[in-house]
Amino acid sequence: VGKKVAKLNINRNKFIINRKFKHTLFSFYHNILKRDKYEEQCKLLNESQYWSIEEIKSYQLEKLKSLLSYVYDNIKYYNNLFNITKFNPSELKSFEDFSNVEILNKEKISLNYEDLILKNILRKDYYSNSTSGSTGNNLKFLSDVNIIRTAMQQRCYNWMGVDFFDRKLSIWGAEWDVKNAKKLIKKVKGYYKGWKVLSGYNLSDTDIDSYYRLILAYKPKLLVSYPSILYEISKRFQKNKYHFSPDAIQIGGEKLFKNQRSFIEEIFETKIYDFYGARDMRMIAQECNKHEGLHIMSENIIVEVLDDNGNPVEEGEGDLVLTDLSNKIMPFIRYKIGDRAVITKKPCSCGRGLPLLKEIIGRSFEIIEFPNGNKVGGSFWTLLMRNEPNVKKFQIVQNLNNLITIKYVLENNHHNINKIKLIKNIHLYSGSKLNIRFLQSDEIPLAKSGKYNFVVKELA
Ligand SMILES: [Zn+2]
Repeated sequence: VGKKVAKLNINRNKFIINRKFKHTLFSFYHNILKRDKYEEQCKLLNESQYWSIEEIKSYQLEKLKSLLSYVYDNIKYYNNLFNITKFNPSELKSFEDFSNVEILNKEKISLNYEDLILKNILRKDYYSNSTSGSTGNNLKFLSDVNIIRTAMQQRCYNWMGVDFFDRKLSIWGAEWDVKNAKKLIKKVKGYYKGWKVLSGYNLSDTDIDSYYRLILAYKPKLLVSYPSILYEISKRFQKNKYHFSPDAIQIGGEKLFKNQRSFIEEIFETKIYDFYGARDMRMIAQECNKHEGLHIMSENIIVEVLDDNGNPVEEGEGDLVLTDLSNKIMPFIRYKIGDRAVITKKPCSCGRGLPLLKEIIGRSFEIIEFPNGNKVGGSFWTLLMRNEPNVKKFQIVQNLNNLITIKYVLENNHHNINKIKLIKNIHLYSGSKLNIRFLQSDEIPLAKSGKYNFVVKELA
């Protein structure tokens, strides 16, 4: 036994050295090779989180001024827009002036795709991206590569008491998304940063059992997943009296319900940190260890919550309109992302000045249950349809327990969708007893509420 304990200690020391080494290598990479001022950025973010709301606002306004001048000079769409609406970015004095800038939405992005992109961009400065978030529009766009996002991520880990290089396990996405993570370059990066990624869909009891063994062996400090997935896993853990407790759980991708939260926290004997991000806006907000709401990452994002008439809401629910302050490749300014949230003026008791979103509402999807008992949330469908580049819009209708209809609008009518592949991918999770019908149409009507529901249940 003594030998075994000694061996364990050696392994632990090895791991700490390993982590220190990774930190050193990381610093060397950023300070000497890239010279991207990464550590300066981290230091700034550690200080700015405790600024007063006034200090944060004046910092945002400065960044905003320079962004608006930049887009006026460099991005055709904004040059035209500001000329037409006679908006002069150099005269911007307040956020009230800023509210005169026309709101951007997914439709406008699709229509003005080329004009929204900076000319002569370098391949290393961006990557192609598409939404898999809370709407059925498959929006394509370019994302910038900017060190501030890594620094923000590092700060999120700090809030959860997790080190950047600690072992992290993500149970996330569908199988075809996880396949992506298996690509060699991602594997190397993942290994370096301590990431392991597992598929979260179609988890049978045996899958969860084998995940449990893997978790026990890997001992992740941080567990990252969707609420609905982790809820199912927790039920199996409870039934089989499985026990594992990570330092923290980070939840994202869907609305986190109170009952899910308390049950998962009870089973894993740890705290959940609710995270709100989106592919088209990346990191938006996350809880700190006081869990009184999600702190907006205000140094890099302006979050507006607007009522139905477009007026700002200071306390209460409204539509989220977001401005990323550092994206210079394809800037989205006053972008209506399609989610709703509750904002509050009440500060968090942790002392951070970063304002709070009380709740994210727009992520509540309709859950569909298949004849084999498997359940999937809205992101299942957006991840699935992301591989169909010609689909402009879609809607999933569950007509009967064993029948769904996929309504879809095509980008151009000369190309169709790969129905066989879609059926195959859905059947992986639903079992073959589910009948799938396809219906191409010219438009998908909005619901009575005026909202675009992309998952609809017609079951009694
Ligand atoms: Zn806080």
